Amino acid sequence: MDDLQNHLAQMLKTQRTLRGWSLSQAAEMTGVSKAMLGQIERAESSPTIATLWKIATGFNLPFSLFINGPATPDDAPRQPQHLPAFRQPNRAMQVQTLFPFDAATGFEMLVIELAPGAVSESAPHEAGVIEHAIVIEGRLELCVTGVWQSVAAGDALRFQADRPHAYRNSGEQPVRFYNLIHYPHR
Ligand code: MN
Repeated sequence: MDDLQNHLAQMLKTQRTLRGWSLSQAAEMTGVSKAMLGQIERAESSPTIATLWKIATGFNLPFSLFINGPATPDDAPRQPQHLPAFRQPNRAMQVQTLFPFDAATGFEMLVIELAPGAVSESAPHEAGVIEHAIVIEGRLELCVTGVWQSVAAGDALRFQADRPHAYRNSGEQPVRFYNLIHYPHR
């Protein structure tokens, strides 16, 4: 966890400085309190997955950059990197990066696990972001702009993620799904 905390601290500070944002401005852009952002920058706090998503979205950056850094450019076929999973202390949700964000393709690929009853709400990502949810296990419920849909194991859904969306597990077994996110080139 210490490595993650340090990476996160450095990433947040670098990105904030790059934009010339004060802590207050960063708080405004992300919806995360100034105090919390300060703690993260000093590596004093392990943020929740929800907080980390807010930060990534507020900075218009891929999620995996904050936990793993960018993919190393390489044309060779590659195996997933089996990077350490990012877990909630209550184990309601877990995110593991399968393939970190690759600037050449604009994709990152995550494996998300939701415990029974878990809900993950997401603010709109930047314009043009597209998410794919490919369900491996369980039944995933996905809400896009207020409309819930159910996706069974083996099935998938693709949607425009520049609007409010949420993932939920109302079942009694864990839900696991691949989350393939495409960020538009700028
Ligand atoms: Mn999202």
